Amino acid sequence: MSNLFGAFRLTDRAERVALVLQKDTNVTYADLATLAGRIARRLDDIGVAPGDRIVVQVDKSHFALALFLACLQRGAVFVPLNTGYTLQEVSYFIEDAQPKLVVCHPERLGAITTAAVSLDTTAVTLDSDGSGSLTDRLSTPTFDVVSRDPDDLAAILYTSGTTGRPKGAMLSHANLSSNAHVLKDLWRFTHEDLLLHALPIYHAHGLFVACNVLLLAGGRMIFLPKFEIENVLEALPKATTMMGIPTFYTRLLAEDRLTPDLVRHMRLFTSGSAPLLAETHIAWQRRTGHVLLERYGMTETGMITSNPYDGDRIAGTVGIALPGTELRVVDHESGSELPRGKIGMIEVRGDNVFKGYWRLPEKTATEFKGDAFFITGDLGTIDNRGYVRIVGRGKDLIISGGLNVYPKEVETEIDSLDGVVESAVFGVPHPDFGEAVTAVVVTEKDFSISQAEMLKVLASRLAKFKLPKHILVVPELPRNAMGKVQKAELRQQYRGLHG
Ligand code: AMP
Repeated sequence: MSNLFGAFRLTDRAERVALVLQKDTNVTYADLATLAGRIARRLDDIGVAPGDRIVVQVDKSHFALALFLACLQRGAVFVPLNTGYTLQEVSYFIEDAQPKLVVCHPERLGAITTAAVSLDTTAVTLDSDGSGSLTDRLSTPTFDVVSRDPDDLAAILYTSGTTGRPKGAMLSHANLSSNAHVLKDLWRFTHEDLLLHALPIYHAHGLFVACNVLLLAGGRMIFLPKFEIENVLEALPKATTMMGIPTFYTRLLAEDRLTPDLVRHMRLFTSGSAPLLAETHIAWQRRTGHVLLERYGMTETGMITSNPYDGDRIAGTVGIALPGTELRVVDHESGSELPRGKIGMIEVRGDNVFKGYWRLPEKTATEFKGDAFFITGDLGTIDNRGYVRIVGRGKDLIISGGLNVYPKEVETEIDSLDGVVESAVFGVPHPDFGEAVTAVVVTEKDFSISQAEMLKVLASRLAKFKLPKHILVVPELPRNAMGKVQKAELRQQYRGLHG
């Protein structure tokens, strides 16, 4: 049985708690199995067949997780959408995915039904309390698990795509299953774990890294609707592990209540989805005594690298290629592999790597090499011990006066200036240089520093061509829900700086 659903062994673990909800309500593995089975039956009644897509834009809840499980059980393809997407964006995804079913928030039903009118698509609703037209007609509690081949699709996730339209990454049962098994073993997840889950579940991090790994291990999750500092501080002492994005850690560090005592029971904190500043890594260790484990992955590939469970977790690196995943750094022009330490394009191959972009065979072909390595779009280096450092997205590379400027290098220097909290460096059009290095910085409260003062210090550390032509102080950096700085937005906003 290659259906990922089978790996979760819900019924074998029936009595165990799977989810701890707010007000300490428990959802057992049996509860999840029953709910998933009933929803799978309902999907079947609606006419969802194996391979059909189900587009889902609902709030995080255990019902939403059961819907994911039901979808696997039915052999359908789960297509979760960011809850922040506008109706116009959702309409595009429906048009593109051609789903048999859309599950949405009750408020959206009318508009979505209209958007899907020309398609053979049914729309039903699911609210975070479990009410809605998906669940109001649930009956038989069991439904057999539909057999799937390893390469059959389990999910399509639209990648955030900062340029052009989002693309649907097709993930098979084998992709998800292999990655979850590797991570469970590497990070030593067992049925004794209680993971603090405050991530969204429409994204690979919250759904495939967190939920799949915990369900595979038979562990429990404190299932918070979102990251709210009071709820997280309250839950932390009960948890054994947390998977977070860097923003979780910086927000917690801003709290005096974050003490070694608060996290005494924790055995692992992981960080990913966006770059973790080395200083956050160091501050976390100083404050809590725990060494953050940073890892790296993307929607298309699942997780690619991780710092070790035992061994050195090095600040500023994303660790070593996971077992079963091959990683190389190549010269993007010539395609040849670069020596250790040289910056180039990161390419990966392995069971975790996706099947291609939905209905975009030509785009897929250009993103894969002939030997099945996928071009991640991330620039980085690999050192002699195999540790990988990410320098930034290839498309964020700045070419100024014909010379390459890696934003990360400039950001690291700016971040080390007194009074600077964080920065983002990007290129804007420039009549002479092609692109001009530009920086926005966030400073500490009540700290004032001029552009000239910053440039004076930077000039002693960076070659002239890397120095920003402008450094602008801003109240905060534009970030998406996963904590990624939106460089395309910055490029757009400041594109007129040089006339
Ligand atoms: P997504 O597909 O939304 O998961 O985004 C994947 C991208 O996030 C990767 O291609 C990287 O650019 C970035 N990313 C993920 N994890 C890390 C990390 N630990 N450090 C730096 N960038 C990361």
